[in-house]
Amino acid sequence: MSITLSPELEQMRATMRKFVTKELEPLARIIDETGEVPDHVPALLAKNGYLGMRVDERYGGGGLGLAHYCLALEEFSRAHRVYTNIMGGSSGNTPLAIMRLGSDAQRDKYLAGLANGTLRAAFALTEPGSGSDSQSMKTKATRVDGSWVIDGRKHYINGGDVADFIMVMAVTDSEKRGRGGVTAFIVERGTPGFTVTRSDTTMGSHAIRLAELTFENCRVDDTAVVGEVGEGFKIAMQSLTEGRLSVASSCIGISDRLLEMSTHYALQRTTFGKPLAERQAIQWMLADSAMELAAARALVYATIEDVEKGVDTGSRPSMCKLYCSEMVGRIADRAVQVHGGMGIVQGFPVERFYRDTRHYRIGEGSSEIQRILISRDLFKKAKASS
Ligand SMILES: Cc1cc2nc3c(=O)[nH]c(=O)nc-3n(C[C@H](O)[C@H](O)[C@H](O)COP(=O)(O)OP(=O)(O)OC[C@H]3O[C@@H](n4cnc5c(N)ncnc54)[C@H](O)[C@@H]3O)c2cc1C
Repeated sequence: MSITLSPELEQMRATMRKFVTKELEPLARIIDETGEVPDHVPALLAKNGYLGMRVDERYGGGGLGLAHYCLALEEFSRAHRVYTNIMGGSSGNTPLAIMRLGSDAQRDKYLAGLANGTLRAAFALTEPGSGSDSQSMKTKATRVDGSWVIDGRKHYINGGDVADFIMVMAVTDSEKRGRGGVTAFIVERGTPGFTVTRSDTTMGSHAIRLAELTFENCRVDDTAVVGEVGEGFKIAMQSLTEGRLSVASSCIGISDRLLEMSTHYALQRTTFGKPLAERQAIQWMLADSAMELAAARALVYATIEDVEKGVDTGSRPSMCKLYCSEMVGRIADRAVQVHGGMGIVQGFPVERFYRDTRHYRIGEGSSEIQRILISRDLFKKAKASS
């Protein structure tokens, strides 16, 4: 994919832009104020083909690739992050793991519901004692009388309070841990021993809650294992590559919207007898944002294209996530500055985007972790070539 999209993707972008502007943008303010998503939204997304975009067509999904999905995230994030969050629940880590590695029974049981919006999934890796260092997780699954007994606590689990089922990572071999000792289990809501013990609202979108989940003597059988026993950490790490590109795409969409709003405002707002657009200080802020956004698109689109072709992209997904999540913070800050007082008034989209972009530098691997991964890749290549 070059920075100019194919005619097919451009057509898809135009269709999505119309849908998002007409159906979703008008709800953004109310979602922000109430912290709730109107009940009809998941069904509306499903009806228009925006849920389960990456799920196989035979399960009612869109059967689309990464480029189509990331473009959708770009467009939908222009209205509100919560829409991409709903889309991620139906096309993100958990659905993709079930589609690629799950048993036929798991696919039959869960994928159609995810694609039509009647089921919601969450992904539970992080724990109070292990975030960036996920290998040090304590949640364990022990073999007892032919079942698995899960004990432990997960937190910051996006949508964990409302999910119908969770893909939970647990240690099954404490010697091997991240090297074949972690397994992914599907735990359904209502399973004895599984409780949602807390639900936190966060800075930014109050409609997206992060849950704490507790597992005490929570018994599941072999049918709950996703993939092979010991494959859990591999599943978690694989999903992170696509997760990083998803975050990068959402950041591009928000940046694009903020730049568009800032440019229009600069043309229309007059101070000291001239529009802001004629002030060099304002022009430079807009120029910097436009330049960064173009660079981000070039990097992210090319990386997505390579991932789809199966090319080894090394640490480029990390670069995409790092660059875009930091860029959107800078662009949101400039957008507030260009809008003056209006930029910080609650209920105005610029203020909402400013609040709602901070978390991108933390989730899916923080900025510091991405820098570690990028430099590790550099040293590996340097050692190999010396
Ligand atoms: C909006 C949001 C949604 C999330 N959703 C989910 C979810 O659905 N499922 C899930 O499992 N998790 C989820 N998370 C959790 C997320 O993955 C963790 O927050 C993240 O991995 C960081 O872990 P931590 O918060 O424990 O921070 P820590 O790992 O404690 O890090 C604290 C700080 O130290 C830095 N740091 C850590 N190690 C190093 C190092 N070696 N060198 C330099 N600096 C370092 C970090 O970058 C960070 O700045 C979500 C987080 C957010 C913000």
